[in-house]
Amino acid sequence: MNAQVHALKPLDGASLFDPVPFKVYTQRDLDRIAPLARLSPEQRFEMKVVSSVLPFRVNQYVIDELIDWRQVPDDPIFQLTFPQRGMLAPEHYDRIAALLRAEAPKDELERAIDEVRHALNPHPADQMQMNMPVDDEGHRLDGMQHKYRETVLFFPSQGQTCHAYCTFCFRWAQFVGDKDLRIASSEASALHAYLRQHTEVTDLLVTGGDPMVMKTRHLRDYLEPLLQPEFDHIQTIRIGSKALTFWPHRFLGADDADDLMRLLAQLVESGKHVALMAHYNHWKELDTDAAQAAIRRVRATGVVIRAQGPLIAHINDDPAVWAKLWKMEVKLGIVPYYMFVERDTGARNYFEVPLVRAWEIYQQAIQQVSGLARTARGPSMSASPGKVEIQGVTEIAGEKVFVLRFIQGRNPDWVQRPFFAKYDDKATWLDQLVPAFGEEKWFWQDEYQSIRAQKLAT
Ligand SMILES: *Cc1c(COP(=O)(O)O)cnc(C)c1O
Ligand code: SF4
Repeated sequence: MNAQVHALKPLDGASLFDPVPFKVYTQRDLDRIAPLARLSPEQRFEMKVVSSVLPFRVNQYVIDELIDWRQVPDDPIFQLTFPQRGMLAPEHYDRIAALLRAEAPKDELERAIDEVRHALNPHPADQMQMNMPVDDEGHRLDGMQHKYRETVLFFPSQGQTCHAYCTFCFRWAQFVGDKDLRIASSEASALHAYLRQHTEVTDLLVTGGDPMVMKTRHLRDYLEPLLQPEFDHIQTIRIGSKALTFWPHRFLGADDADDLMRLLAQLVESGKHVALMAHYNHWKELDTDAAQAAIRRVRATGVVIRAQGPLIAHINDDPAVWAKLWKMEVKLGIVPYYMFVERDTGARNYFEVPLVRAWEIYQQAIQQVSGLARTARGPSMSASPGKVEIQGVTEIAGEKVFVLRFIQGRNPDWVQRPFFAKYDDKATWLDQLVPAFGEEKWFWQDEYQSIRAQKLAT
């Protein structure tokens, strides 16, 4: 098996890439990021203010290879990784800016930061209360979510960071050091015990953060035991990652990358479907030699790369960007999977796009690509009742409506039943929609309320 993986090396291009050291920058290092010198002192101060509230982390590869500094501040990857003033509401911005200017005492500043963070809906879709499973004794299993029957999400503690942070990150609360807001588990044994008991589960989704920040040996501790016959019901192992964008050298060059390729190939050869759920927002992320070499190398193990990512104002709210992204993905052997709606958390006011605009962008983009790229579903809202897709806008019996469907639901029986919301050109999330045709409630509403009451009681 090892020999086979090594035989792939000259073909996959990885040998062209020597190990590259990982050099990272956080809020404290803003002044050391050379190309920022071209911005005004006011712009740099704005970054300092915003990054005291929301997480900021970038690395040399993103700075040197992904951002076109001539296009800053409009460059999409700059918007994806660097804090922007508009990300905070004016009253929040002014409050933190004033404290920083006055060099306020540390505890006063921290208290203000904490209050602003808690005003930003740190845990959307009731994740803490509603998705965490409990064991036989009723203890909540931290670091796991089991929302849809067939899929368990696992958040390994060593993987709860990323090689850089997205400005719109929906898991931002985990990255700002607030322990109360964190979901993580270091317990491989808890994961394995849970999966052993739950034979209805077919898919394990290892996520974060980014599990690819972990050393391969940690990843191996979680995944290799799943090759035992008692885990035959786990057919698919998915790994959610943005490392193909933020740090493709994770898959190239270093020794640990070779170990990773061996682990992935071993899982595939043992009969599991292994999918790297790659987070992409813009075709520029696919447009470097390192990114493409990493993709080739991962694919050579037999792992399928599927692409998903949110539609975000200032970054990719343009059908041409999505059409080009999906075309490049297909060309590189990546399967387009989901277009998400920006979630209702963090800097949503800066990044959100009205649902009707999201649907127009999806439709106009999908019309430009061949059937192989039309595997992208969306735009989809990951809301508390389930994943709700906007299928379109139409008129029924004289009323303009959104046509919606569940792609995933807390009750699998809700999936694929069309339902209708009153048209609203400003709505950006499910909770802003109301049922069409004067109906009082959604077809799923009573059942959802009772599931919710039950979960919150445990
Ligand atoms: C999206 C998601 C899944 C996986 O859903 P698929 O439609 O199978 O990709 C599982 N659990 C949660 C909580 C999710 O949001
Ligand atoms: S890759 Fe995902 S988890 Fe990491 S910062 Fe971006 S959105 Fe957040």
